[in-house]
Amino acid sequence: MERRYFDYAATTPVDPGVLEEMLPYFKDSFGNPSSIYSYGREAKKAVEEARSKIANLIGADSKEIFFTAGGSEADNWAIKGIAMKLKDKGNHIITSKIEHHAVLHVCQYLEKHGFEVTYLPVDENGFINLKDLKNSITNKTILISIMFANNEIGTIQPVKEIGEIAKEHNIYFHTDAVQALGNTKINVNDMNIDLMSMSSHKIYGPKGVGALYIKKGVKIDPFIHGGAQERRKRAGTENVPGIVGFGKAAEIASNSLEEHIKRTVKLRDKLITGILENIDYVRLNGDPIKRLPGNVNVSIEFVEGEALLLNLDMIGVSASSGSACTSGSLDPSHVLLAIGLPHEIAHGSLRLTIGRYTKEKDIDYVIEELPKIVDKLRAMSPLYEKVKGGDK
Ligand SMILES: *Cc1c(COP(=O)(O)O)cnc(C)c1O
Repeated sequence: MERRYFDYAATTPVDPGVLEEMLPYFKDSFGNPSSIYSYGREAKKAVEEARSKIANLIGADSKEIFFTAGGSEADNWAIKGIAMKLKDKGNHIITSKIEHHAVLHVCQYLEKHGFEVTYLPVDENGFINLKDLKNSITNKTILISIMFANNEIGTIQPVKEIGEIAKEHNIYFHTDAVQALGNTKINVNDMNIDLMSMSSHKIYGPKGVGALYIKKGVKIDPFIHGGAQERRKRAGTENVPGIVGFGKAAEIASNSLEEHIKRTVKLRDKLITGILENIDYVRLNGDPIKRLPGNVNVSIEFVEGEALLLNLDMIGVSASSGSACTSGSLDPSHVLLAIGLPHEIAHGSLRLTIGRYTKEKDIDYVIEELPKIVDKLRAMSPLYEKVKGGDK
C-alpha cells in the first residue's frame, strides 16, 4: 500500500541533499572541532559554515547562533537562562496558553521556584491580544515568550508588534519559531526578537539538533556547563554531522522560501476547501489567512479524532489529532481548548500538515477518502443519527 505522509508538523523527512552533505562528517571528517590539527579544523570549519547559513535564513549574525540538541532544548535554555540571569531584577514572565509544552512546562517548573507567570488567553482564531499583553506587563516582568506560529492550528502571531511592545518596555522577547522557520519570512532585527528557538528536523534536517538565536548583548546564563564550546554558553562536543545537516537544510530553505510558500499554500487551500465542501458539521481551526503554509486543522463533529487517525492509517494516510507529543493522552489539546472549542468538538479534531514532498494527488486522495471514513464512523454515532433526523 502506498503511504501518504500528512504530518510535516511532527517531523519532516531529511532532504536527500542534506543527507549527502552530512555523510563525510561521519567518515573521513570525523574530527572534534576543538582539536587544533587538520581533522579538528575541518570539522570546525563545517560547523561555522552551518552557523552562517542559519544566521542568513533569519537575518542574524553568525555570532548570534548557538547550537543545541533541538527545539525543546532551545526553549528550555531561553526561558531558564533568562530567568536565572535576571532573577534579581524581576520574577515575572509572560507567555500564552497555546505554547508548545517545551515552553509551558518550563514556565510551570519556574512557578515552583518563585517565578510568576501570566498565561495570556487567545481569541477564537488563536491570536493573543496586544492590549492584554501590554496590560500584563509589570515592573517585575523580565521576559515575554510568545510562539511565532502554532504547531497545532498554524496561527501566526503578530510577532513584530509583540517585539515592539517588549522593546518599548525594555523586556526581552523570546519566540519559539520551530514551526515558522522555513515556512515564513523571518528577520530577527526587523521583528525585534531577542531570542528565538529553532529545530532542524522540522525543516528537512536531521533530528536532535537545533539552535537558539541570542541577540548580541542579551544577558543569559549558559545552559549546559562544561567545556568552552558555543562561546562558553553551551558545553559539549558539537554534533558535527547534525549541525552540517541543519545548515544545509537552512540553505535550501533560504533559496526556495517563496516558491515553497506559494506551492504549499495552494495545496493547503485545496485540501481545506475539499474538506469543508465534502463533509458537513466541520469547522476549520486557526486563522484562515495568517496560518502556516502547510497546516490544515479541522474539527469534525460526531467522530473521535483517534478513530479518524486509525482509519486513515489503514488506507496509508499518516496524520495527527493534536500535537505529536500528547497523542496517547486522552485530554483534548490545550490549544483547541484555549480557542474555545468544547471538549467533544476538540476530541473530533484532525491535523493534516503538508510539505515539500506532498503531491497534488495526495491531496486529492484525502479529499476523496476522508468523507467516506467520516460517514462510516458517523453511522455508528447515535448522536449524529439524532441530529440528522432532526434536520429532516
Ligand atoms: C517540534 C516543536 C518543538 C520541539 O522541537 P524538538 O526539536 O522536537 O525538540 C518546540 N516547539 C514547537 C512549536 C514545535 O513544533
